[in-house]
Amino acid sequence: MRKADTDIGLIGLAVMGQNLALNINDKGYSIAVFNRTTKKTEDFIAGPAKGRETVYGAYTLEDFVSLLSRPRKIILMVKAGSVVDDFINSLLPLLEEGDVIIDGGNSYFEDSIRRTKELDAKGILFVGTGISGGEEGARKGPSMMPGGNPKAWPIVKDIFQSIAAKTPDGKACCDWVGPDGAGHFVKMVHNGIEYGDMQIISEVYHIMKSLLGLSHEEMADIFEQWNRGSLNSYLIEITRDILRYKDSDGTPLLENILDTAGQKGTGKWTGIEALEHGVPVTLIVEAVFARALSAFKEERVRASELFGEPVIPWSGSKEEKAKIVLDLGEALLASKIISYAQGFMLMREASISNNWSLDFANIATLWRAGCIIRSVFLDKIREAYSDNPGLENLLFAPFFKNTLLKAESSWRRVISLASIHGIPVPAMSSALSFFFAYRSSRLPANMIQAQRDYFGAHTYERTDKPRGQFFHTNWTGEG
Ligand code: NAP
Repeated sequence: MRKADTDIGLIGLAVMGQNLALNINDKGYSIAVFNRTTKKTEDFIAGPAKGRETVYGAYTLEDFVSLLSRPRKIILMVKAGSVVDDFINSLLPLLEEGDVIIDGGNSYFEDSIRRTKELDAKGILFVGTGISGGEEGARKGPSMMPGGNPKAWPIVKDIFQSIAAKTPDGKACCDWVGPDGAGHFVKMVHNGIEYGDMQIISEVYHIMKSLLGLSHEEMADIFEQWNRGSLNSYLIEITRDILRYKDSDGTPLLENILDTAGQKGTGKWTGIEALEHGVPVTLIVEAVFARALSAFKEERVRASELFGEPVIPWSGSKEEKAKIVLDLGEALLASKIISYAQGFMLMREASISNNWSLDFANIATLWRAGCIIRSVFLDKIREAYSDNPGLENLLFAPFFKNTLLKAESSWRRVISLASIHGIPVPAMSSALSFFFAYRSSRLPANMIQAQRDYFGAHTYERTDKPRGQFFHTNWTGEG
């Protein structure tokens, strides 16, 4: 029987769990691992963990728990949903007061709120942590967004911060986000922003390929160039690599990939939360719908036969083409700014309604490295919120204001070019519409209020009277 002196335990040896376990062990922590299907534990111990003297495979939960030093720290890296609750329920009789259960999966933040409360009542400290960066991040250093029971943070902080990615100036991309579901909420918004970033890149690729007729090498060169400037990010970098990648027949693999995008739900959750809080997170929601529309492949093919393809060919000089490429870079950056501004608007509302006191400069730091949306751009967001923690909106920060104003005419040209030539740009155009509406001191909502009052006597406020006084008009004059 081994001593109960193992630093931490991990349950769930799929791709994320295996990589995280190896990362933890690399940083000098002993680790016990358990998986429902024992063959996976055996294969892990005999394979990726071979030769590691401080990685212990356990084949029953009792054995697993008996290996851990106190307070016990157990990370669940299992399928989100009821599986997490099942493991918590199985572990509870084996744990003691003060032990910590960490859920590192993509759990719904409301579940983390519930689990924090339920476990606190039993003396167990719950942490719901977003972990981003896919399997490579888990192995080499992910971005981590822990929330839950604050009493757990001092117990797990050292391990978490040592395995997390580091910013270029050496800061860990892991810090306490806030109580109960705060960590998983922020991870959800991160994933929503990821959907948005991917969509606007795909819209730019569509224009480059279908309208400008650029070759894949030309497109890759442009993304490479963008990656040296303000757009520098992981997603721009991998887009460059994807564009260069050749299939076995020497043609770009990208063009042999079916144009139906999948999704697992975190983008949809972001959209639902945006609607719940009444925050116009338009770009992310358009990105989710763009994936949904792409999935109607057969119906789209039938519609294209009925209506014809929408693209009207573009022709222009080399100089005009180069100018459009410059415009595309500006439109991409401007749309990205709007998307992040919307994401932070949502987090602000959620922070207020849940009493989370989210620190937005801290959140930007957590996303700076290790995760899918990592970019130099996040330094600017961190700076904006560090300079002014009470910033009303990211768009009010001087850097973002100036960048948008500089990009605006390019952005308008891109959206009109796309519309005239039949290229769908739902995310970039929704971002531009948001920018127009957000800075309009008067919108046509007066018409909506009049209609509501006309058919439903919903009343309206007047421009010439103080706010809070409501009026009703008998629009038809009928009694
Ligand atoms: P996954 O496919 O989400 O889950 C597989 C793990 O869950 C396996 O250990 C599996 O055990 C266990 N499991 C599934 N159903 C079970 C059940 N009914 N009872 C007991 N155990 C069950 O694995 P993953 O991709 O490594 O992801 C783990 C978590 O991290 C998920 O919440 C995921 O959303 C999140 N995440 C994933 C990524 C990524 O890039 N993959 C990135 C960030 C976060 P068996 O081996 O016995 O089936």
